[in-house]
Order: sequence, then C-alpha cells, then structure tokens
Amino acid sequence: MELPFAESYKIKMVETIKKSTRKQREQWIKEAKYNLFNLKSEQVFIDLLTDSGTGAMSDKQWSALMLGDESYAGATSYYNLKNTIKELLGFEYFLPTHQGRAAENVLFSVLIKEGDIIPGNSHFDTTKGHIEFRKAKAIDCTIDEAFDTELEHPFKGNIDLQKLEETIKKYPKEKIPFIVITVTCNSSGGQPVSMENMKAVRKLAGQHGIPIIYDSARFAENAYFIKKREKGYENKTIKEIVKEMFSYADGMTMSSKKDAIVNMGGFIALNSEDIFKKATVFNIMFEGFVTYGGMSGRDMNALAQGLDEGTEFDYLDTRIKQVEYLGKKLTDFGITVQRPYGGHAIFVDARKFLPNVPKEQLQAQTLAVELYLESGIRGVEIGTLLADRDPETRENRYPALELLRLAIPRRVYTNNHMDVIAVALKNVFDRRGQITKGLKIINEAPIMRHFTVELDKA
Ligand SMILES: *Cc1c(COP(=O)(O)O)cnc(C)c1O
Repeated sequence: MELPFAESYKIKMVETIKKSTRKQREQWIKEAKYNLFNLKSEQVFIDLLTDSGTGAMSDKQWSALMLGDESYAGATSYYNLKNTIKELLGFEYFLPTHQGRAAENVLFSVLIKEGDIIPGNSHFDTTKGHIEFRKAKAIDCTIDEAFDTELEHPFKGNIDLQKLEETIKKYPKEKIPFIVITVTCNSSGGQPVSMENMKAVRKLAGQHGIPIIYDSARFAENAYFIKKREKGYENKTIKEIVKEMFSYADGMTMSSKKDAIVNMGGFIALNSEDIFKKATVFNIMFEGFVTYGGMSGRDMNALAQGLDEGTEFDYLDTRIKQVEYLGKKLTDFGITVQRPYGGHAIFVDARKFLPNVPKEQLQAQTLAVELYLESGIRGVEIGTLLADRDPETRENRYPALELLRLAIPRRVYTNNHMDVIAVALKNVFDRRGQITKGLKIINEAPIMRHFTVELDKA
C-alpha cells in the first residue's frame, strides 16, 4: 500500500487560539464596521486573512536570530543575506527594505514618472497603488483564461503576449519604464507563470529594450508549479528552477513575508549598478542605511535562512498539498473555487456563491462576513473593495472576478483546521438562498480603501 502524505516537519512550539459564540461574533463584526481588518486577533479562531508575515519560523530561523549582527553599517547579517540572494536568485545588487511595498516605493521612485505605462499580469494592490500614486498607469495583460474560475489551465498567471505587444506598440518606448511579472499572480488567484512565458516576455521586452521587474513574493511556489506542470522541469530542483526564472528578469521586488517565511521584511535585487545607486538614495531616505534598510540584523539572518528553506521541495510540497486538500473539500461540497487550486490560498467565487446579492452590495465581502459569523474564520475580500475606484472617474471598478480568499499561513494550521474551514463554508453554502442582502460603504479612504473601509448592512 502506498504511504499517505504527511507534513515534512514536526511541531516544537504551540500557540493557543480561542473559540467564540455566534452571538459574540455578531457583536464584534458590527463593532468592526463589517471590515474584517478591524477585528482583534483574539476574536478570530482560524485566521486566513493573509499568508503575509503569518508563517511559523523554523528552529533554524530562530537560532539564526541569535547570531544577528546589529551593527549600523557593514553587519555580517547583511553580507549573509547578500550572499544568499546572489547564490539563490543570481542578483549582484540588493537593498533591504522593511517589507514588499517599501521595496516598490524605493524602486518606483527611481523608475516611474507621471504618465508612464506599466504593463503586467494583474498587478498586486500595493504595486498598483504605488504606480497610480505616481500618476502612472498599470495595464493588465494577463491571459483571458485567468478570469474564468472553472477553466483548468496550468499557468493562469501568464502574460498574454499579444496584449503585451499591443501595449508596447501603442505607447512610445520611453513611456514604458519596465514590465512587471508577478510570481505567482495573487490577484488572479495565486496562479503561476510558466517558464516558457517568462522566456517569451524576456524576448519581446528585449526586442524593445524594456526591462523586466519580477514582483516576487511567491516565487518559490511559482517554481514548485513549474516543476509539477511544465515539461522539462520535472527533474530539476526548486533552486535550479528559481535561478532560471530570475535569469529572465532585470530586477525584483520582494515581500519576504510570503515565501521567505519571515514575519517582516523585504528587499530589492538588481543587475544594474546604475539603478542600484539611484535606488540607494531613496532607500537611505525612506528605509535606512544601505546595509540594513528597514530591517534589524537578526531579521536579515532569519530571512536568509528562510529563503533557503522556502526553496526546498519537501517544504513546498507540504504547503501546496495542504492548500489543495482544502480546495478539494470545497469542490466536493459543490462550491466553486478558482481552478486549478492556487499556491497560497483558495479563492471562492463569490458571484457564483451568492447570486442573490447584487454586485453593488459587495458579494465577496458579504461572504467573508457570513463565514466569520458562522465559525470565527477570517478570510479576505479580493473583489470590488480591493479593486477600488477608477482614479479619474472615481467610479467603482467591478473586477472580472469577485473572490473570497482563504489564505493559508505557512506551517501554522493542520488539516483538522482545513476540515473546519470546509464545513463552515458548506454551512453558509447550504443557506445561501436566504442571503439576499449585502453591505454598503459608509466611509472610505481615497486609495487602498479596503484596509480601512467602514461598512453597514445594505
Ligand atoms: C504582499 C505582496 C506585496 C507587498 O508586500 P508587503 O510586504 O505586504 O508590503 C507586493 N506584491 C505581491 C505580489 C505581494 O503578494
């Protein structure tokens, strides 16, 4: 008999989580203005708000912390991380930052001017925020297949080369400072980009002299999918695949809170000394001196260790199989989720789940609130709230997909938790016919409104 699958680690430290009653949760979510970001963590039983910074560090990472060098300049921890980045990702130059959006802020301060065009695959919200903040425009060139949740396609994060070429031809070259490739593509459901696609984009960009920057938060999960799904890569190690992926990029921004399995941190890595030098000025201004950026020495040490562990096959296999386990349960219950299952999260199609709630009443947010009320599970809306208003017309943008994201923290929950999540969502699904009213916006910020928005029952 074939042995069943089991985690590639065992547990050394535990943290208690609290259950609550429906009555308590009704009170709490009302006080939170129906925005799950406003809940206290003690009011949450299973927290799937994000996989960002919520992972469990390993014993080796915790011990790396103790060897952190807190020197202001030239710390050993900085060189340790610099060497790891060079060895693993291949970039000569790097700047530490306090998290991914800080890396965007610093790098985009060098690269983006007002009126610029940044083509890419479903830009992440902070990436888009930093582009639009500079009065530039993000153009989504993701393949159309990505927007059909039920369609099976191995690389739904891919860039549509025709859309990209049209965009490049439509604007003068100097208006396109770079192309961004997000690996994996969060906004379209944690979907990977194939190596073939990265190569093709490299070729096209090369013909027009346009640099490519990878938004790399989940690059290791992307590499895992390449190994599993792309011909010619089945026998390569994750580290070999990662090295090849980045060989087609000119630089990267990284949120280390994802695939590097640390609780805080980020970086920029580059091939160009010129851009590095320019970015250094902004890094010193916004983040900190070159050799620490926004990070302490100990955190850089834990990050270097995390990058190494995060690109090991057994770890990735455990993680991605857990996400798949949850996805399969939901599919078996008849719930429509984004297929194939993503790397870091399961995305529930809220439009199909709550067809009786009008889109103006925020279907995915309504579903997120219902799931919380049912069970104390906190997911997050990836839909109309996140899509924000058009910066020019100020109209709501209704995105192609209206999703509830259930992000799975790394090495944190067991499959028993996955079982609870699946049944809780099924219970909401069973009474979906009675859910006809959604939510309305009472108060919102001018940019990235989803974090602080205040809502009420419609
Ligand atoms: C999380 C993330 C960011 C931003 O990083 P933070 O560390 O949250 O600031 C940027 N791009 C992608 C794809 C991400 O997932």
